[in-house]
Amino acid sequence: MIIDSHCHLDYEPLLNNIDKVILNAKNNNISKLLTIGTSIESSKKVLEIVNKFENVYGAIGIHPNSCSNSKFYIDELLLIKKSSKKIIAFGETGLDFFYNKSKKEDQIYSFEKHIDFSLNERSPVIVHTRDADDATLDIIKKNSAKVNFLIHCFTGSIEFAKNLLDLNCTLSFSGIITFKKAEYLNEVIKLIPNDKILVETDSPYLSPVPYRGKPNEPANVKIVLQHVAKIKNTSLEEMAKITSTNFSNLFFNEKK
Ligand SMILES: [Zn+2]
Repeated sequence: MIIDSHCHLDYEPLLNNIDKVILNAKNNNISKLLTIGTSIESSKKVLEIVNKFENVYGAIGIHPNSCSNSKFYIDELLLIKKSSKKIIAFGETGLDFFYNKSKKEDQIYSFEKHIDFSLNERSPVIVHTRDADDATLDIIKKNSAKVNFLIHCFTGSIEFAKNLLDLNCTLSFSGIITFKKAEYLNEVIKLIPNDKILVETDSPYLSPVPYRGKPNEPANVKIVLQHVAKIKNTSLEEMAKITSTNFSNLFFNEKK
């Protein structure tokens, strides 16, 4: 049983081929998928998808790269959340000071608002963070006693990883870990305790080696998992068990 903890099934070419994509995942032993919203529009599509496919769960959120003026509409997320038990998290939210496509203050407002919703709904928050280590840590620190955070597609430094682990965050790794230029992430993976690690595709983006340049899909999470298992010196089966348990603990147990 393997789980893809982060994909975007509402993006093309996945949405147009969704039956095939989900079947291909099943055929590769991927038992659950978590599809992630990035805007109100996208989150509404996430709701439609989880209503249609039994093994697909959803997270709803507004991406930090497109959260300008979200104060005028962000409350809609709560309505979507309340309409299905299969919406199990808020995100992706977070901070992206690399692209700075939305103003910093808008990003911070939106991130904190997702956290407020999570507090009320007792759901984890899925975080995108890029070139914003300190600001991300500041916000998580203020809330880590009450909310569980999942840092998606981790590509940061060892130090950033340690700081996040100190705040009880779970870290998820994508196909980036198979890229030559990302070899440094092997050292990060080694230090993540087994109960704090997840794997994802972030499909349709970030296809792992040897599929770079092609659209990614959830079935490829197996390649990411295989890589993690190798670094952790264990089997694919064992790592599948570990990450599936982590997924269940994070999203289906009310711990905080
Ligand atoms: Zn994503």
